Amino acid sequence: MAEAASTGKSGKVVIRNIGLLLSGDIDKPILEADTIVVMDGLIVAVGKEKDCDTAQAQTVIDAHQTCVAPGLIDSHVHPVFGDWTPRQSQLGWIDSTMHGGVTTMISAGEVHLPGRPKDIVGLKALAITAQRAFDNFRPSGVKVLAGAPIIEKGMVEQDFKDLAEAGVGLLGEVGLGSVKAGYEAKEMVAWARKYGIQSTIHTGGPSIPGSGLIDKDVVLEADADVIGHINGGHTSLSENDVCELCEKSSRAIEIVHNGNERVAIAAAQAALQLKCPHRVILGTDSPAGSGVQPLGMLRLISLLCSLGNIPPELAFCFATGNTARIRQLNCGLIEVGRDADFVFMDKAQHSTGRGLLDSVRLGDIPGVGMVMIEGLVRCGRSRNTPPATAIPSVATHA
Ligand SMILES: [Zn+2]
Repeated sequence: MAEAASTGKSGKVVIRNIGLLLSGDIDKPILEADTIVVMDGLIVAVGKEKDCDTAQAQTVIDAHQTCVAPGLIDSHVHPVFGDWTPRQSQLGWIDSTMHGGVTTMISAGEVHLPGRPKDIVGLKALAITAQRAFDNFRPSGVKVLAGAPIIEKGMVEQDFKDLAEAGVGLLGEVGLGSVKAGYEAKEMVAWARKYGIQSTIHTGGPSIPGSGLIDKDVVLEADADVIGHINGGHTSLSENDVCELCEKSSRAIEIVHNGNERVAIAAAQAALQLKCPHRVILGTDSPAGSGVQPLGMLRLISLLCSLGNIPPELAFCFATGNTARIRQLNCGLIEVGRDADFVFMDKAQHSTGRGLLDSVRLGDIPGVGMVMIEGLVRCGRSRNTPPATAIPSVATHA
């Protein structure tokens, strides 16, 4: 089982000699800067080295001209407890995913819990317990935002108020429980929104035996904050219906690795054509029937860029800053005041790409050389990605 995050503070950390700095900001995805200064887990300066106060740092990281990007945010996971998933009987899946550059995960429901309660008091208790448990325990430092109840028939406004007051900030995928009609979902999504709880709806055919279809009209009527796995999980609505959802709804367009890959590309391209790339967010929908994909976020980025012609610097924003803004997180963007969560990448050894972005454009997966969460180094060279050509080095001072 992975270790809980250390509770220590990072102190002052200087990251210098950055070759490419991806901001996470879709309006300005590449920054003209080579240095980041961190103090106790937060970014305090970003710029050229000569303009930054780099003195007396406890930790100095030489990026060796590699790329630094915000840590990836997986917008759609199904955790249960700890670093364990019963879906494929795996331990350590969150640690493995951190080695794929992910520093934050958002639960779309703790649906795989064996014997998951479906009565109202039971589902509320589970959500509160999951929220607390992952707030207290960060597998390998990864921030897992969990406690996402699956709504059931019979819930009343007071239930949503109770959940919000108890610290629950997310709804699990609407449609996975007994609430499947548009008018019912709409009422509960509105109650959730009233109390500050963000909602996601399952889109498309059933995921596993026992779940059901949520079609375009239900998605539009329910009006959840996130059109969850718009490309299906796995079975997608028609490409026409998906494009219509992008056009008629103004909500977040969530594309997942464990969905229909052809429709993933269509949805991303539709968002660009509609001039709303800021609405696109990425996830894996893992663990799932197709397993746990530690590199799922990187694979999805590579798919969208290589086969969908999405510029790589934008695709990284789909996986970082867009999600942070839509979900109101303090990570995902390289700017002063944000969490110092970073993934260091370089083109994989022997990739035919000219550099990192070109290698992704050609369909290769980047090599991860280091992952940092709140200023603390969580891994060096990834054990899961193909080896990065160059990796950062660390010097620590007492
Ligand atoms: Zn789903």
